[in-house]
Amino acid sequence: MGADTGQLAAADVAIVGGGFAGALLALVLARGGEAVTVVDLHETYPEDFRCEKLSPAQVQGMADLGVLDALASLAPEGEALTSVGLRYEWLVRALRAAWPEAVTFIPARVERLETSEDRQAVVLSDGRQLDARLIVIASGPMSKLAEPLGVQRRTLRKRHSLCVGFSVVSAETPPRPLPALAWHGERPGDGMGFVSLFPMRGAMRANLFAYRDPTSAWARGGLQDPIGALYEAMPGLKRRLGPLTLVSPVETRATDLYQVDGVVQPGVVLIGDAFRSSCPATGMGVSRIVADVTALVGMLPAWLATPGMGAGKIAAYYADPAKREVDHTSDRRSETGRRVALETSLRWRARRGLARLKRDVTALARRA
Ligand SMILES: Cc1cc2nc3c(=O)[nH]c(=O)nc-3n(C[C@H](O)[C@H](O)[C@H](O)COP(=O)(O)OP(=O)(O)OC[C@H]3O[C@@H](n4cnc5c(N)ncnc54)[C@H](O)[C@@H]3O)c2cc1C
Repeated sequence: MGADTGQLAAADVAIVGGGFAGALLALVLARGGEAVTVVDLHETYPEDFRCEKLSPAQVQGMADLGVLDALASLAPEGEALTSVGLRYEWLVRALRAAWPEAVTFIPARVERLETSEDRQAVVLSDGRQLDARLIVIASGPMSKLAEPLGVQRRTLRKRHSLCVGFSVVSAETPPRPLPALAWHGERPGDGMGFVSLFPMRGAMRANLFAYRDPTSAWARGGLQDPIGALYEAMPGLKRRLGPLTLVSPVETRATDLYQVDGVVQPGVVLIGDAFRSSCPATGMGVSRIVADVTALVGMLPAWLATPGMGAGKIAAYYADPAKREVDHTSDRRSETGRRVALETSLRWRARRGLARLKRDVTALARRA
């Protein structure tokens, strides 16, 4: 860096945000031989209640990108990554820890972005500036950095869903073994999606997905007594699991559904939650990140080998068929999950019944 000018060393790719999306992209690009710079507010990714479980398809996607080894140490000896709970900060920190030297990390706040058909600038809040050929915005759900570039966020539904996370153990003596399971809402129209129960740190972690107002009395009660709120809504689950003891703080997170318009702009692409949100109940946020990263790393070498970073190159990324398919599936599931939980017509009751049947068949297959 030139101390007088505040100019940082130029990079081919500057990634704004080192959460799951930014950290994963940096890892894949750097292992492929690209020099990348990541700027993030946090030197160490803080504790954060987000994705706590990876699906087999997500793990396969990471393997296809050649980076599964970065997460391998998170699963206890002999356990599959997909069968245990993983705190979000563990995932992000593990990806960052695997970065090779080709990744330059700058802990700082990005203040604004300047883009053009050729060179781009990332301006930090302390006045320093980083030049790059391409800026990747991976700054998550809250950031408004892309708006001055003409990218407008469109909210589809505020407070679309609510996720409550807490850990429990059996309160019986001797303790009843608690199974990993997904249990769906039991009463049509009550706004209960499902609860997912999986092992984490010697207890069972519960992620409860509901379509209820986070300011409602139910949500406030759930914060005080999540087991009571869960069992009141799902008496069948109470019979299945028996009395439970809460062994962790209760975390809640409401999610807005949004997309972005005007996204094709020279010199910049958006990935992960910066591009659009998924309802957490779909379990597709990481799938979308994997699809975004896969599409981008497939195109970047050709983009960098030719002059310019115009809208034509950028448009190809958003038109990638595999990315579009995953985005579409995520949008559809975000909507369907809510309707299954809230609607009471015969059609949606049948969908709810089907979901329960699928659960029971899966549980039977596990026991066989
Ligand atoms: C409760 C909950 C449960 C979920 N469960 C699942 C699940 O089971 N499965 C699943 O696949 N997905 C799940 N998701 C979705 C998934 O967690 C998100 O899609 C994913 O975390 C998005 O990652 P990201 O990297 O895009 O954003 P983030 O992780 O938010 O990263 C953004 C980064 O940008 C940085 N940043 C922001 N602004 C600036 C700035 N101005 N300057 C510098 N840095 C900046 C931040 O510090 C942060 O590190 C869940 C989400 C929630 C909320």
